[in-house]
Amino acid sequence: MAAQDAIPFPVYVVDATTLKILAVNTAMRKLAGAGIGDTCHSRIYGQDTRCIHCPLEEMVANRKRNGRGKIVFEHFNEANDRWYQMEETLIPWHDGQMAKYSIAVDITALKEAQNALVEAHAELTLKSRQLERLVVTDQMTGLRNRRFLDQTFRSEVERANRYGTTLTVMIGDVDGFKLINDQHGHPVGDTVLIQMANILRDNIRQMDILGRWGGEEFAVICPETSLEGATKLAEKLRSIVAEHELPQVGHKTMSFGVTIYRPGEAVTELIRRADQYLYKAKENGRNRVEFG
Ligand code: GH3
Ligand code: MG
Ligand code: MG
Repeated sequence: MAAQDAIPFPVYVVDATTLKILAVNTAMRKLAGAGIGDTCHSRIYGQDTRCIHCPLEEMVANRKRNGRGKIVFEHFNEANDRWYQMEETLIPWHDGQMAKYSIAVDITALKEAQNALVEAHAELTLKSRQLERLVVTDQMTGLRNRRFLDQTFRSEVERANRYGTTLTVMIGDVDGFKLINDQHGHPVGDTVLIQMANILRDNIRQMDILGRWGGEEFAVICPETSLEGATKLAEKLRSIVAEHELPQVGHKTMSFGVTIYRPGEAVTELIRRADQYLYKAKENGRNRVEFG
């Protein structure tokens, strides 16, 4: 096998019936210490019996069917923990017996690079999802932020115009919030906002979209909801907030403005009207829901 010895990849020839090695090149001998007369499975692949992955049967069947006796596949060799690209060919040996000529290229480095790439891609996908979430989340309350609400207002208005569905919105504002900051300090004010956010989150319906609209203001977008339905929801939220006792500051209230989308109007018009009703609720004494 002198010419084969010049090939830097391990090469061996095995009797297709007995699986006894008929020839090996230097690279193969160095790699597995395999010699003539050894069986390929015991010496090269570290198996007591014929390898599970052995493609010989398939190769013989292919050769009968279409004359092609060659097969290429990737194989992880448990005997030395390395990946190989195997190219195996059926050839007639000198004695007339059918033999399998096998050449193996070590592709472990390639496989490792591939795995690292797959891992890096998965990590990037996760990071990008986290980032996407971060971009639309209010860091203090964990609610959706103004950016998300603006997007949702636009898309829901578009949907209402296209399909003629009902869309209502409410804006809720904490009453006398400035006083909480003044009396207890800004950090306590922050805690109150977080608690208010939690109360709202726990009591809206799954289809409603809740977010922090501004400082101490929250918005709820209610798709496919009547003005009556949204007003009831606002009234429910108002009463739950009012009845809830907050640590340090006691009972605090919220006022709500609720309105319904009028087909064809701009988003700004819808928001302006919700604000007007909120203002009305403040004017009429706070801890109230006004709607129209
Ligand atoms: P009203 O009943 O009319 O709503 O009175 P108010 O005091 O709640 O309203 P005002 O708009 O006068 O005050 C809102 C205050 O909210 C002013 C601002 O400093 C405070 N604020 C806005 N954002 C935050 C925040 O993130 N944390 C804290 N602690 N305070 C905030
Ligand atoms: Mg306020
Ligand atoms: Mg306000």
